[in-house]
Amino acid sequence: SKKLVLILGDQLDINSAALRDFDQKVDRVIMIESVQEAQYVWSHKAKIALFLAAMRHFAHTLEKLHYPLTYIKESPFSIVETLRQQILEDRVTHLVCITPGEWRLKQEIALLAQELDLRLEMREDEHFFCSHQEFELWAANRKEFRLEYFYRQMRKTHRILVDEEGNPIGGQWNFDQDNRKPYPKKGPGIIDPPASFEIDCITKEVIDYVEATYQDHPGSLLAFNWPVSRDQALEALAYFVDYRLRNFGVYQDAMWTDTPFGWHSILSSALNLKLLNPREVIASVLEAWKKYTLDLATVEGFIRQILGWREFVRGMYYLDMPKMAQDNYYEHSRALPNWYWTGETGMSCMRDAIGQTLRYGYAHHIQRLMVTGNFALLAEILPKEVCDWYLAIYVDAIEWVELPNTAGMALFANGGRFTSKPYIASGAYIKRMSNYCNTCKYKPDIRFGETACPITTLYWNFLIKHRAQFEASPRTRLMTANLNKISQEDQDQIVLHAQQLLHNLDQL
Ligand code: FAD
Ligand code: SF4
Repeated sequence: SKKLVLILGDQLDINSAALRDFDQKVDRVIMIESVQEAQYVWSHKAKIALFLAAMRHFAHTLEKLHYPLTYIKESPFSIVETLRQQILEDRVTHLVCITPGEWRLKQEIALLAQELDLRLEMREDEHFFCSHQEFELWAANRKEFRLEYFYRQMRKTHRILVDEEGNPIGGQWNFDQDNRKPYPKKGPGIIDPPASFEIDCITKEVIDYVEATYQDHPGSLLAFNWPVSRDQALEALAYFVDYRLRNFGVYQDAMWTDTPFGWHSILSSALNLKLLNPREVIASVLEAWKKYTLDLATVEGFIRQILGWREFVRGMYYLDMPKMAQDNYYEHSRALPNWYWTGETGMSCMRDAIGQTLRYGYAHHIQRLMVTGNFALLAEILPKEVCDWYLAIYVDAIEWVELPNTAGMALFANGGRFTSKPYIASGAYIKRMSNYCNTCKYKPDIRFGETACPITTLYWNFLIKHRAQFEASPRTRLMTANLNKISQEDQDQIVLHAQQLLHNLDQL
C-alpha cells in the first residue's frame, strides 16, 4: 500500500532502512521542522541552526533524487501533532519510520498509530553496531553494567583491533593509562584547527531565521562552523584522521584556556544526525593508523569512544527509560546557577568551559564531565535541571546520548548502575589537567575561606557528607583516607564554608 515515510531531524541518512523499499510512484517522504522541539528545552541557537540546516540540505538531496517530499517548515505544533494533521489530510494508512532515538518520540508515534489505526512499521536503526535486542541480551542477568565488558564483546563481534583468535591487538584491550596527559607546561603549542565550512545560501537563510526567531535563546551563531551535509561531514572526517587524530589520545583529557577543541574529532554532531556512519569513521581511523603509523593507544582510545561508549550509553538509555530521566540518587534539589547560561562567574574553569559552550555549542568530554558536570554534582543541583541544560546547550545533544552521560555518568543520579563510582574531583584535578587555575581568583589548594576554590570546598564537603558510601568501596577508599588526614577542626570549617557557598551559588 501507499506509504508515508517519516524522516526525523536526526535520521539524515540517504541509505536509511526507512527508504529501502520506497516506491517513488506512490510513496511519500515527510520531514517536519517543529518550533516546539526547539523550545522543548531552551536550546542554543547553534543547535537549532544545525538541525534546521542539516534537514534542509537533506531535503535538497531527496529532491535531487526525485523523492516525493512533503517538507513542513517551521510548524508551530509538535512533530507528532503536525504528523497527525498531515496523515488525516492525506488519508495515510501506512506509516514507516526508523525507531526514534528519543524514547518520548517513540512512544508518541506508537500512540498516534494506534489512535489513527495506522499500519506502523518502525524499522531498526541500522546506524548503530548494537541493536536494542542485542543489548538486552548482553544485559540480561547482569547485576552490574560496565563499559569494559561490553566493549570487549563489541571488538570481538565486529572483529575490530583483534587478531585471528579474538585477542586484542597490542596485548591489551585498553590503553587508557597512556591517554591522560595534560598539555606541556608551556601550553598545547600549535594544534591543527578543525575543518572549516563555507556557509552556503541554505545555511545562511537558516542562520538569519534563527537569529530573528530565537533571539532570546542562549549561545551565539557568530562562529557557526558545523558540517550540515553529507559532503561536509565526510570532509570533517577526512580532515580529522589526516591532521588531528595523531594527538587525540594523549591529550584527550587535557584542557587549556582558549583551546576549545583540543585534538578532539568534533564529529559527534555529524554522527548523531547520521550524516556519518560509525563504521566508516572506524574504517577511516584504522586506515590512518596504517598510513601514518599512529600510536595504537590513540587509535584504540578513539575507537573505544565510538564502538564502546556511544553504543553502550544508547543501550543503557533504552534499557532504563523512562526511569533514567527521573532518578535522583542523592535527592539533590538545588536550582542550576544562572551563570550556566551566561558564563559570568569568577571561577576561571567554569567561565572558560561555559564560555566556549556558548560560543560554539561545544565542549569536550572532560570539560563536560569534570568541569560543568562535577560542579553540578558537588553543588547538589537537581538532575533534571542539569540534564535540561546539557540537552539545550550542546549541538550534539540528543536525549539518548545526553541523558545517560549526564544523569548516569556525571551526576551518579542512578546510584551507579553503569559506573563504578561517582566522578568527583577537587580543584587539584583541574589544576593538574589545565592552566585554568593560573588566572583564577580562587586557589585550588585552599579548602575554606575567602580565597578557597569553591570546587575544592564542595569536594571535601561532599566527601564528608557521603563518607560512608565512599569508605565502603575499594575504588573510592583512598579519597576518604585523604579526608581523614584533615583535622576535625578544618573539616568543620569546610562544612561551614560549603553551606555559605551552597546558599549563594549564583554569586560565585
Ligand atoms: P571525541 O572526543 O573526538 O570522541 C569521538 C566520538 O566518540 C564522539 O564524536 C562521540 O560520538 C563518541 N563519544 C565519546 N565519548 C562519548 C560518550 N561518553 N558517550 C557517547 N559517545 C561518546 N555526546 C554526545 O554526542 N551528545 C551529548 O549530548 C553528550 N552529552 C554529554 C554530557 C556529559 C555530561 C558528558 C560527560 C558527556 C557527553 N557526551 C555527549 C559525550 C562526549 O562528551 C561527546 O560525545 C564529545 O565531547 C563530542 O566531541 P567530539 O566529537 O570532539 O568527541
Ligand atoms: Fe576552577 Fe578552582 Fe582552579 Fe578556579 S581555582 S580555575 S575554581 S579549579
